[in-house]
Amino acid sequence: MRLKDLTEEVYKCIRCGWCREKICPIREELGFESTYARGIVLTARGLLEKQLNYSSALANRMYLCLECANCMEHCPLDVDVVGIMNAMRQDLVKAGLAPEVFRQVDRHVESTKNPLGIERNEMVKWSEDLGLARKGEVLFFVGCYPSYKFPKTARATVRILRQAGIDVAYLAEEEWCCGTAQYMDGSAALAQRLMVHNLEKIEDSGAEKVVTTCAGCYTSLKHEYPKRIGELSFQVLHITELLEDLINEGKIDFKNEIKKRVTYHDPCHLGRHSGLYDEPRKILNHIPGLELVEMSRNRENTRCCGGEIVLNTVFPELGKRLPEIRVDEAANLGVKDLITSCPLCVSNLRIPARKRRIKLYDLPLLVAESMGVSGK
Ligand code: SF4
Ligand code: SF4
Repeated sequence: MRLKDLTEEVYKCIRCGWCREKICPIREELGFESTYARGIVLTARGLLEKQLNYSSALANRMYLCLECANCMEHCPLDVDVVGIMNAMRQDLVKAGLAPEVFRQVDRHVESTKNPLGIERNEMVKWSEDLGLARKGEVLFFVGCYPSYKFPKTARATVRILRQAGIDVAYLAEEEWCCGTAQYMDGSAALAQRLMVHNLEKIEDSGAEKVVTTCAGCYTSLKHEYPKRIGELSFQVLHITELLEDLINEGKIDFKNEIKKRVTYHDPCHLGRHSGLYDEPRKILNHIPGLELVEMSRNRENTRCCGGEIVLNTVFPELGKRLPEIRVDEAANLGVKDLITSCPLCVSNLRIPARKRRIKLYDLPLLVAESMGVSGK
C-alpha cells in the first residue's frame, strides 16, 4: 500500500496529542515532534499536500519508528499509524531513499534468505540429531533467530511437543525468512516473494497447524500472509497458544518445581499486534513454585524493547538505551529472572540483562526446565 492509498486515514488524525506523553519510546528518548505518531501523521499529510518531499533526511526520521503500536493503542480515533508509516517506507524504498542498513538487510535476505546474512547450510544445524520429518499435521515454523542464534529454544520446543505427544515436522532449509522485517521496512516486493515461497512449502507439507515461537513470525503468518497473499489452508498458532491448549488437555507434566520470582515482558508483536496477553501468563502460573510479578508497563501498555538491526546500526545510542530501560524496569522489581516469548526480544534484551545479572528466558526454555526435557 502506498501513502496516497491511505489519504483518508491520514486525515482522521485530529492532532489531539493523546499519543504524546509516555506513549512513544522514541519520543521519550529524543523528544522531537516528528518522531512520534502525531508528527508522523503530520509528515504524511505534508507529503500528500506536496508541502514536503521524500528525502534522505525525512527517511532517517521515518525509520526511527519501531512500529510498536503503543500510539495506536491510545489513539481515540484508531488512526493506523503503523500502516501510514509502512506506506511512507514503501514510497521511500521505491524512491531509493531507504537508509543503507535496510538495503544491506535486503541483500542478505536475497542471498541467504535470512536477515542475518548467515549461510544457508547453518540453518538446520540445530536439528541434525533430532530426526525431524518434512511433512506432518503440525509444522514448526522455526524462524531465523531460533534457527541461527538461539538453537536451544528451537530444540526445547521440539522436545516439549514430542513429550506432549506431537511429532512436529519442519521445512528445514526450505523455510525462508517470514518477511516481517521486509514489510515493516517498506520492502513489500521482497516480503511478498518470501511469503509466497513459504506458503507454497507449508501447503506442500500437508500441515493443518503451523506453530512458531517467534512473535514476529507469528504476526507475519497469522495476519500479514492472509492480507497480502490470500487465505490460509492451515491454522497459525504461537507456541503459547498451543501450550495452553496442551496444558488444558492434561498433556504437559510440569514435574520440576522452579522456585523463582519472575516478571514477564510482553513482546509488541504478540501483545498489541496479536492480543495474546493471557496465554503466556497462564502457562507461567502453571509452573510449580513460580511467582509472577508484573512490571508497571505490561500487557497493552508494554514498553517496546527496541529493534536490534535498525537501531544498533543507524542509531546505536538509542539501540542500547531501549532494552536497558526495559531491563531496569524488571530489575527495579527485585526479580532475578525475566521471561519473554519472542527470540527477537531475547536478542534485544540479552546484553543489558547480562550486565544486571538478570537471567533471561524465552518461555519454551522455562517450560522445558519444569518438564525436565532439555533444550541442549
Ligand atoms: S494519531 Fe491519534 S492520538 Fe495521535 S494526535 Fe492523531 S488522533 Fe490524536
Ligand atoms: S509505533 Fe511505537 S515507535 Fe512508532 S510512533 Fe507509535 S509509539 Fe512511537
